[in-house]
Amino acid sequence: MHEMSLVHGVLDILEDSARKQGFARVKTVWLEIGALAGVDPEAIRFCFDAVTRDTLADGAELDIIPVPGQAWCMQCCQAVTIAARTQPCPRCGGYRLQVTGGEEMRVRELQVEPI
Ligand SMILES: [Zn+2]
Repeated sequence: MHEMSLVHGVLDILEDSARKQGFARVKTVWLEIGALAGVDPEAIRFCFDAVTRDTLADGAELDIIPVPGQAWCMQCCQAVTIAARTQPCPRCGGYRLQVTGGEEMRVRELQVEPI
């Protein structure tokens, strides 16, 4: 599953931060998921529980922050919000869009427990 490897990547980030910042446990993870990232938030949630079992984030809460898809329309020269990559410009209906945001998934913030 694609989401499974993404969650393993998140766990790597958590373990890395724990080493650098010196904390023992992660209590909450705020994760941004772009609308155009091609990621299913429910699948991420499911994988997160499985992947973090017996790690520093065991039992941690996962707070998913949806990030809207953003694009620049070359036809009306406006920044627009789109829900999918295949969607036309909501203003002019054109397809000459350049995606500018909402393509990634990233850890925005962590609530941790010091050692
Ligand atoms: Zn447009």
